[in-house]
Amino acid sequence: MTDRAGEVADPAPADPGRDVAGRAAAGFLHRYGEPPAGRWAAPGRANLIGEHTDYNDGFVLPFALPLRTVVAAAPRDGARWSVCSEFSEHPAEFGADEVAAPGRVTGWAAYVAGVVWALREAGHDVPGARLAVASDVPVGSGLSSSAALEAAVLAALVDLGGLELTAEQLPRLAQRAENAYVGAPTGIMDQSAVIRCRAGHALFLDCRTEAVEHIPFDLAAAGLAVLVVDTRAPHRHADGEYASRRAACESAAELLGVPALRDVPAADLGAALARLDDDETRRRVRHVVTEDQRVLDTVELLRAGRIRDVGPLLTASHASMRDDFEITVPEVDTAVEAALAAGAYGARMTGGGFGGCVLALVDAARADATADAVASAYAERGYRTPRFHRATPAPGAHRL
Ligand code: ADP
Ligand code: MG
Repeated sequence: MTDRAGEVADPAPADPGRDVAGRAAAGFLHRYGEPPAGRWAAPGRANLIGEHTDYNDGFVLPFALPLRTVVAAAPRDGARWSVCSEFSEHPAEFGADEVAAPGRVTGWAAYVAGVVWALREAGHDVPGARLAVASDVPVGSGLSSSAALEAAVLAALVDLGGLELTAEQLPRLAQRAENAYVGAPTGIMDQSAVIRCRAGHALFLDCRTEAVEHIPFDLAAAGLAVLVVDTRAPHRHADGEYASRRAACESAAELLGVPALRDVPAADLGAALARLDDDETRRRVRHVVTEDQRVLDTVELLRAGRIRDVGPLLTASHASMRDDFEITVPEVDTAVEAALAAGAYGARMTGGGFGGCVLALVDAARADATADAVASAYAERGYRTPRFHRATPAPGAHRL
């Protein structure tokens, strides 16, 4: 029983209008016939700036969203794990054999089994558990529902088992679950953001050293808002394009004789570009090098409390992704243009590209009007109706 036992034991059937924490608890009660021992939440994330810089050993600046995934959980005897999610009609159950090696649990439950596997690989005695998942993070939109699920499960298992792990160690474990068990190649940004972010702050992460700094990003206090536009555009060849951008960056670094493109300072960009004879490679390098610099410039402005002035950097980042890195699609460009025309201070695609989300920095009082302007532009072009979220920087994974 938790100190919220009354709420947890509420026998009312889960309904979508209910708060996500209530839905997780109700889902647990419905499936396992008893209330959970506790609930753990982890947020989705948006990257304010720094795109495709992570695998170039560079800089990113994500923040956690108020949209959360909640896991209700209770320990059970033995090395067995049961998990259900309102996302799927198919609950899963697995034991020590299935988490002995990647590939044995597939589908959405692989994200959960992967966390158990990664913890056991690292030598931890993972408690058996029953888990029920509910989430407000849109799945597959680039707001990192996968990392939110991993982080909420990880937080639950660490607490239930009294495992000795520091906040610094958790992102690597969650990333290992996703890379090695699920088989999805991702950098360290998503898991770092959903675990380590703080309310009212963005997380300045050096992807080479994994050093983090919490940068004040108090939108509400400045009368500002970040409008997140989920374009719902179908991801077009995103996996193949991601792999080809990564390969292009790696071979460019080799040509330039540096360990990673992060090692090309913005001041030396002209000289570096002059050494490359292929125009496409030059544009890929220019994106990464200028994007790293834009992250550093954004951090400087935020440290000085000048949030509005970040706008032009966001817009420049978008132009660089569109023209040099070539990872945007018409739906994404339309959302950026419509938001800017409606008076946004800046706007850019956030996430890996080829669909996904756009974020726009706006006066809080203009957020709805900006959303209306984007929705009208979509209607005019016959695009799928976008979805909107207002993003205030929220805390990372924690127990409720
Ligand atoms: P995203 O950009 O949202 O992280 P991914 O493709 O990386 O997109 O991850 C989405 C996958 O993560 C889903 O297809 C599903 O397998 C898993 N997932 C995310 N959230 C949940 C959830 N609440 N319940 C079950 N599975 C989830
Ligand atoms: Mg993901």
